[in-house]
Amino acid sequence: MLPQEIIRKKRNGDVLSEAEIAHFVIGITDGSITEGQVAAFAMAVFFRGMEMPERIALTRAMMQSGDVLDWSRDGLSGPVIDKHSTGGVGDKVSLMLGPIAAACGCFVPMISGRGLGHTGGTLDKFDSIPGYQAQPDTALFRRVVREVGCAIIGQTSNLAPADRRLYAIRDVTATVESIPLITASILSKKLAAGLQGLVMDVKSGNGAFMPTLDSARQLADSIVRVASGAGVKTTALITDMSQVLGHAAGHVTEVMEAIEYLTGKRRDPRLDDVTRTLVAEMLLVGGVCQSAPEAMSKIDAALSSGRAAEIFGQMVAALGGPANLVDRPGAHLPSAPVVRPCTPVATGRIASIDTRAVGVALIELGGGRLRPQDKIDHRVGFSDFRALGEEVGPHQPICLVHAVDGASWSRAADAIRAAVRLTGEMVRVPSPIHQRIAVD
Ligand code: URA
Repeated sequence: MLPQEIIRKKRNGDVLSEAEIAHFVIGITDGSITEGQVAAFAMAVFFRGMEMPERIALTRAMMQSGDVLDWSRDGLSGPVIDKHSTGGVGDKVSLMLGPIAAACGCFVPMISGRGLGHTGGTLDKFDSIPGYQAQPDTALFRRVVREVGCAIIGQTSNLAPADRRLYAIRDVTATVESIPLITASILSKKLAAGLQGLVMDVKSGNGAFMPTLDSARQLADSIVRVASGAGVKTTALITDMSQVLGHAAGHVTEVMEAIEYLTGKRRDPRLDDVTRTLVAEMLLVGGVCQSAPEAMSKIDAALSSGRAAEIFGQMVAALGGPANLVDRPGAHLPSAPVVRPCTPVATGRIASIDTRAVGVALIELGGGRLRPQDKIDHRVGFSDFRALGEEVGPHQPICLVHAVDGASWSRAADAIRAAVRLTGEMVRVPSPIHQRIAVD
């Protein structure tokens, strides 16, 4: 099978066979298909799309391009379930969700990513914890999942290697925003973790990759159908990303918020709603609970008993972080030299937030990368970010800006003031959860 003939067929809008897709993916993985051919293939898929069976074949082939974990001989007492988010600003849900789901009886082998574009990455957040090994060997990863119930780590080198090469080429050839390619990219990595069930959090709003509800629905539908077609029970929630999720955006600031949440010191209501509803979906998908009310009461117990916070602490310690992080986060997490409130010039209610601009301001503070090899400063970010509809003014800050010096504080504060539009009217605040999508 010649790669150029496979590309030609897709370029002409024909449907590729499972064998043609598998052949092409082997060539992506072993390097026998050139970068130019991979780019041409991605562009052909971008314009011509893929039918559902093609998407399933691409996902399967990419998943099988490396190691596929198998938990069947580990004697686990519950289902292996994960959640994946398409990314947003202040999205620290995974930090709490993994331990809560584990406290409710799931096993969560979560392979997470670094920041992408203006969105933050779970892996970067864990990197702010001194000693935490975000890339352990497979044996340690498996042991922590087995003994603690959840482990949140980064992609290991032999997990879906076809995606790593294809993704890097898509990134520089303007072919990222293709629903079939995003579906296969996300699911190949998730399914390689050996899951029995998956819950997708597809973000929609001005801080999401899929800004409109319609595009978020199309992606959610594609992922749910393809994952179910590949034999993994999956549901999706479309959740709101038209403002920072919770009160913090950054790395240390988000780890702090996650600990405050788990220990019950402070719980932002929208973050709470999204986190609990996603965990409830995991419990339903995994068959741990039979109804949403049953799942919600299990989640309440996991939080109020302190068990979820305990599991977070155990996971951090088992992966090399401080044993008492949950009790004394301030003693371990580094703080920024300049932390000052950002106030608007006028008084009013927050009518809208350009959430993407908040993500970009975080990158400019040093909390994101301009090039893949860049180091990030985990100390910088935002906290106490006010929500849509809340009143702010010269004595009521929009947020606290955590910066390395006065000049970068000032630039970020200007960017935040420009991103926030105020009104004297009442504000209609979007609900945190827009829709649930499951296969019929
Ligand atoms: N995240 C991924 O892992 N892959 C994509 O294609 C887009 C987002």
